[in-house]
Amino acid sequence: MQQLNKNDTMPRSDWSNREQGAALRREVEQLFSDDRVALFLDIDGTLLDVALTPLTVHVPLGLAELLETLSMRLSGAMAIITGRPIAEADKLLQPWKFAAAGVHGGEMRMSATGTIQTLTPAFDPELQSNLKTIADAMPGVVLEDKGAGIAMHYRLVPNLRDPLFATLEALIQKYPGQLAICGGRKVVEVLPVGFSKGRALRKLASLPQFAKRIPVMIGDDISDIDAFHAAEASGGYGMKVAGENFSESEASFTGPRDVLAWLEKQRQHV
Ligand SMILES: [Mg+2]
Repeated sequence: MQQLNKNDTMPRSDWSNREQGAALRREVEQLFSDDRVALFLDIDGTLLDVALTPLTVHVPLGLAELLETLSMRLSGAMAIITGRPIAEADKLLQPWKFAAAGVHGGEMRMSATGTIQTLTPAFDPELQSNLKTIADAMPGVVLEDKGAGIAMHYRLVPNLRDPLFATLEALIQKYPGQLAICGGRKVVEVLPVGFSKGRALRKLASLPQFAKRIPVMIGDDISDIDAFHAAEASGGYGMKVAGENFSESEASFTGPRDVLAWLEKQRQHV
């Protein structure tokens, strides 16, 4: 009896060897040639190298133009899905704007010319002040109030990861069913429950400019996995970028530089 290949039953983004990563690339390249792609891109660790703090990232010359041309050639079927607030993403990619989901879907902008909508309910002021107290008690932990969510960055003090998670887990217990914790690259975020990059991708993919195309999500972080699975559930693709979360052997890309070189090639094909 033929043994069932476990890859027949698991999401393609859970595949874990180099050959499969390369096969994904070839399949998606074909979709670009056929002009069938709806492209969803994370920013940090995917388009940009991760920096010590979110404000010190380096934006390669020509990145914004590359994205703008790709978006135009895909007839607007390109969106940013990031943990950053959309206004911050806009600053990094100026002068261009794109359809976007920020703060893991807590904010959305349905088209490049649309307005930014905050979808999450306002945070309890007491919770905000408790989070500030926690950050103050852990020197090196940087609190970032994103409006739709609150992030605690511990890149400067990675040894504080476990106590930080434990403290935040205990805190959200006081808000049963209301709050969730979302871990990322040297960051942990407190968000209202129900918001995720997967939900954001589903919402964006249902818009007219994305519909009838095949969703392709490229990301490097644990929070992107949900979006990979959302893309795959619609017959699309999740493409991993190697870094702190995914090894080179399981990823489709070795890092942001590889992603940009590949997108540059696709731009010439569509
Ligand atoms: Mg990322």
